[in-house]
Amino acid sequence: MAGLAAARILLEADARVTVLEARDRIGGRAFTERTTFGVPYDHGVAWLHSADANPLTSIAVGLGFAVEEQYGVSWLFQDKRDVTETAGQLLGLGLSRLLTAIELAGEAGRDVAVGGLFANPEGWDRKAAAIVGALDCGEELDRLSSLDLWRQIETGDERLVPQGLGAVVAGFGAGIPVELGTPVTAVRWDGPGVRLETARGTVEADSAVIAVPTAVLAAGGMRFAPDLPTPLGQAIADLPLGLLNKVTLSFPPGVLDCPPGTELAQLRADGRLGDALLRPFGTELAVGFVGGDLARTLEKEGEKAAVAHARAVIADVFGSAAAGKVAASHVTAWGADPWSRGSVSVARPGRADARRAADTLVGDRIAFAGEAWIADWAGQVPGAYFTGIRAAERLLAVLARR
Ligand SMILES: Cc1cc2nc3c(=O)[nH]c(=O)nc-3n(C[C@H](O)[C@H](O)[C@H](O)COP(=O)(O)OP(=O)(O)OC[C@H]3O[C@@H](n4cnc5c(N)ncnc54)[C@H](O)[C@@H]3O)c2cc1C
Repeated sequence: MAGLAAARILLEADARVTVLEARDRIGGRAFTERTTFGVPYDHGVAWLHSADANPLTSIAVGLGFAVEEQYGVSWLFQDKRDVTETAGQLLGLGLSRLLTAIELAGEAGRDVAVGGLFANPEGWDRKAAAIVGALDCGEELDRLSSLDLWRQIETGDERLVPQGLGAVVAGFGAGIPVELGTPVTAVRWDGPGVRLETARGTVEADSAVIAVPTAVLAAGGMRFAPDLPTPLGQAIADLPLGLLNKVTLSFPPGVLDCPPGTELAQLRADGRLGDALLRPFGTELAVGFVGGDLARTLEKEGEKAAVAHARAVIADVFGSAAAGKVAASHVTAWGADPWSRGSVSVARPGRADARRAADTLVGDRIAFAGEAWIADWAGQVPGAYFTGIRAAERLLAVLARR
């Protein structure tokens, strides 16, 4: 989204633009497909968080997509028991204690590990910790910056796009000239402009927007010659990507006996957490979510282990006979994906300000864009969108001065 938004602005200013994309599709972490389950299925981003302030809401509507309020009921399970009545209040209290602690630290300008503000959570407090950490950021609370979380926008208006948010981003990018299957391996900026080395040759330009995830840069997926300035290099290391994966199962009609859009949250006997969106938009899908350390463990163990976890969650709620009726399954592996190496950027404790390190251009000709480089919409598609626009405008301002 960051690269596409930048390209849009540059094209509107009549600049000559080439978008170099490693994958054989556009959209990056926004990707909808309908082959696996026969219905639109987002591998990555799905929610329009803070939809009333989110620029993607009007982009989606403008492209003719329906945007729906998240309408489902919450269902809380402790092991195999429905404890919605009793646990709902406990979960709410835990969440409110945690968010208040983040708020107080943020207002005082304290940039500390969130884990220290909510130490050793037990019972439903563990779920509250996961909602804020593992499930939202893909990272455990002790590896998250309090100031960074406090700076992020949260209006409470959550919406979904039945046709898929990845499809919205693809629609936004339609018509933008993109060279697919063209990974950039090196960026040389020792001369007057930039030289981008790819497997398909070198591209020369006056300037470049680098819109790849920080984890790709940190892993050396794109070399810079000369090296990037130290503060920027340090910021890339301080903004790693947390891991969120989806483990989705489909069933024959009638097996998932619950209203469409039911949000299942479970504390399991094996100590793991179970989380799923059941029957979104009336489909027969159980879209399971795993984040943080659990996501890392399952991604390492492989697809079978992830599906076994998701089936165990469904078995606890609907019985093992029902869980045995899986018609199809899909497991994402965003951590192993060389073009993302994770799901959403997080700031390490004490390093919330790293998100500002890309506020200045490198050598007056290289701008960085992407969800990592913004404070209020960090980790989200709108963050990618805003930073893409900002990067293009900064480069255009330099070109106008010349
Ligand atoms: C499972 C999951 C759930 C999520 N849920 C939400 C959500 O509900 N709401 C929300 O707002 N956000 C969510 N996100 C985060 C959201 O997807 C990202 O914030 C956003 O898509 C990032 O956009 P971007 O342009 O910064 O980066 P990307 O989308 O990662 O784009 C970077 C692009 O660079 C390309 N690239 C990488 N390396 C190279 C290279 N060497 N050469 C050329 N091209 C390269 C990639 O292929 C990609 O197209 C989720 C992410 C995941 C994975």
